[in-house]
Amino acid sequence: MLSFPSLGINQERWNRLLLTSFWCVLVLSVALECMFLQITKVPTEEFVRLYIVKPTLILIVIVILAESSVRLLKKHHDYVLITSATLITVTITSIHSSLEYLLFFLFFPIMISIFYFQYKKLLYAIINTGIAFFSLYLLDPDIHESISSIGAIAMAGILFIYSGIAFGVLARGREAFMHLRTSYESNQELLVRTILMDKLAKTDALTDTYNHMAYHEYKDHLVEQADNGGLSLHLAILDIDNFKKVNDTYGHKAGDEVLQKVASIARSKTGSNDFVARYGGEEFVILFTEKSFQEVHDLVEDIRSSIASTHHDALNGLNVTVSIGLNPYSPGMGKEELFLRADSALYEAKHSGKNRTVVASPRLAEV
Ligand code: GH3
Ligand code: MG
Ligand code: MG
Repeated sequence: MLSFPSLGINQERWNRLLLTSFWCVLVLSVALECMFLQITKVPTEEFVRLYIVKPTLILIVIVILAESSVRLLKKHHDYVLITSATLITVTITSIHSSLEYLLFFLFFPIMISIFYFQYKKLLYAIINTGIAFFSLYLLDPDIHESISSIGAIAMAGILFIYSGIAFGVLARGREAFMHLRTSYESNQELLVRTILMDKLAKTDALTDTYNHMAYHEYKDHLVEQADNGGLSLHLAILDIDNFKKVNDTYGHKAGDEVLQKVASIARSKTGSNDFVARYGGEEFVILFTEKSFQEVHDLVEDIRSSIASTHHDALNGLNVTVSIGLNPYSPGMGKEELFLRADSALYEAKHSGKNRTVVASPRLAEV
């Protein structure tokens, strides 16, 4: 509950950065010691041994141990790094026990732990720092001597205040994280709802095919593609024969069931590049794309004969038939003519006996 699971992202990269920062601390401490060397009254050889070689070797061992633990251990890298940071600060502070202000360097592990944005790691760093501070104060005679008990209490107080601030930073980060997550989730929800609404707005509720509005939208788009991009496009209009009689004889509900069945046959026979819509009433349109005339004609005939051979329980086992007008699009025809020519072909199918497919006659320009 108190953790930020998603802040585990890029953890490895951050651990690498922290390890690099340890190497930087090491280099910086050597560089500062070399500067001190210029002004110190301690004999050069003793200074180099005590303040350069010894701490540098200890620090190298600590950082190498941290590097290898991160490589070898599968988890707990963050605890290893916080512990290493504590050891680094203890080493640097105890070597220079006369420079009491270096005790402020003990905040280093706390600062490191903030990178993880987890209360338990911050707490771990604070405990580390507390133990380090009191051990140094109690066990290192130089530090004990250079800091009065009031000074030690003040240091502990400052440690307490900074820890409180670190907790505050985490709480603030958590707040921002929660805010981000909430708005991300509501955005996701909105996106899903928009997609659902969009689908609903384009679907015919009874037959689950596209509706009239969606048909016009797609047709405009496809005609444009056919004119400019050479897309092959065909339009078929299907009209159920004598449907009024079906309704009159078996009732509106039976008529609805027949409409659903006819739609489902049309959908099952068409591919993902085709588009079936209920144009209105008992009339359906199918836009076929990327198919030759022969393929489309075969498909349309297959649909027609499948419908004709389907027996409906709602009609006491009787069947219905459809008449179909088919029109291949040719560039420049335009969307109105595309429909009108298919509709004329359908009219012809109706007046030449129904249950048949009529192909629109070629345009004058193509004869
Ligand atoms: P034709 O063979 O010439 O197409 O004759 P038809 O009877 O099919 O054509 P007409 O246009 O005279 O009648 C269409 C009928 O379709 C009338 C209407 O009640 C019915 N209809 C339209 N929409 C629905 C619907 O959603 N459900 C039902 N059950 N019937 C519908
Ligand atoms: Mg009709
Ligand atoms: Mg009809």
